Amino acid sequence: MGQIDSKRRNSSCTGGPKKLFVRGPKIPGGAPGSGSGGLRCVCFVGVLFDVDGVLLRGGSVIPAARRALRKLVDQNQSFLFPVVFVTNAGSCLRHHKAQQLSHLLDVQIAPEQVVLSHSPLHMMETFHHKCVLVSGQGPVTQIAHTLGFQKVVTMEELSEQHPLLDMVDHSRRPTSTVSPANPSAIILFGEPIRWETNLQLIVDVLLTNGRPGCVYDARLSAQMPILACNMDLLWMAEAPSPRFGHGMFLLCLESIYRKLTGRRLEYEAVLGKPSLLTYQYAEQLLRQQNQNHKLSTIYAVGDNLMTDIYGANLYNRYLAKHHTDTMSDTKLVAQGTGTPVPVVEEFAFAAQCSSILVCTGVYNPQSPLPGDQNVSETMFHGQNDLKVEPDLVEPSHMVEDVEAAVDLMLQQENQNEV
Ligand SMILES: [Mg+2]
Repeated sequence: MGQIDSKRRNSSCTGGPKKLFVRGPKIPGGAPGSGSGGLRCVCFVGVLFDVDGVLLRGGSVIPAARRALRKLVDQNQSFLFPVVFVTNAGSCLRHHKAQQLSHLLDVQIAPEQVVLSHSPLHMMETFHHKCVLVSGQGPVTQIAHTLGFQKVVTMEELSEQHPLLDMVDHSRRPTSTVSPANPSAIILFGEPIRWETNLQLIVDVLLTNGRPGCVYDARLSAQMPILACNMDLLWMAEAPSPRFGHGMFLLCLESIYRKLTGRRLEYEAVLGKPSLLTYQYAEQLLRQQNQNHKLSTIYAVGDNLMTDIYGANLYNRYLAKHHTDTMSDTKLVAQGTGTPVPVVEEFAFAAQCSSILVCTGVYNPQSPLPGDQNVSETMFHGQNDLKVEPDLVEPSHMVEDVEAAVDLMLQQENQNEV
């Protein structure tokens, strides 16, 4: 890596992506559950697109994005192979993001083709019946209900239930109390508007085991489960320098918790790129668009080394380990019984995930590459077991923009076909 891939396909050569990507019989009726993005055929390749910095810049469409997507749809505007849009944004509902992308990109995108930072919470059913405290901004209650959570308490509701807790802004202090709820888990969707309120109330809930009207219990041994979405420390908006992201809020919360308890704040799950859960969920959506058939290669296109490239490479490492382990298991079973036993799980996961970096967003090709310099810890909220490793921030390919990324994919698959 280090040079922009110079081979740019002539667009006239990309006229047959269906031939390139689609193998196997044509299946009438479209893919179940994939909405307007339904495929009519079984494919071997799927694509994950990051949104900000790849397709959009603020509210504007990057010109290459429309050209790129036009190469991926047929005359009926249906995608020719599985495509999922994966973003760490999370202050909105999935169908709203799908509508917004469809409108801006001039192609029909179904909600089932969108992964927001909180989308994998769909899979965490063990928490759906618990009373959860939610932190973030936007329609957090509606988002939580849509994800399957049935008992939801917002920070505003908690503050109303306990009017003595939030003491910073006297003008907002509730005047009447309502009957309190007792949360048994916390969901951190994204950075809140009033950080001091949320930091105070979350710590209150943690140190009282869900009863913030009580005195802190210093003897608490087990910490209440926290599900955190989007660990980006910084993000690019219109300002000249990056703005604080949810990762920065988490850093504050962790620091306060450690200061008060001497213990590390633990997360039950961390979601959003670069977490494995997000890529597992995104692959599940790709497979659903593919008649539940396994894909061989997933291409992940993004503009951020620390989220898109790190995440795709981490997932590729996971896939490689999964296949190695599965093969070992198969061999062991075969040695023990004399008969190879097919492992069904092996067929569910893609063989590899290839990362493609574009230069239209956060990544600046004029800046030194991570391989040349130490990757700064300040760029990455390396909590939990995620560590900055130079190999994981090295993209499989680097291209100018998303159109070049699509051309590269088409070219690679064309070569594989020969
Ligand atoms: Mg991005």
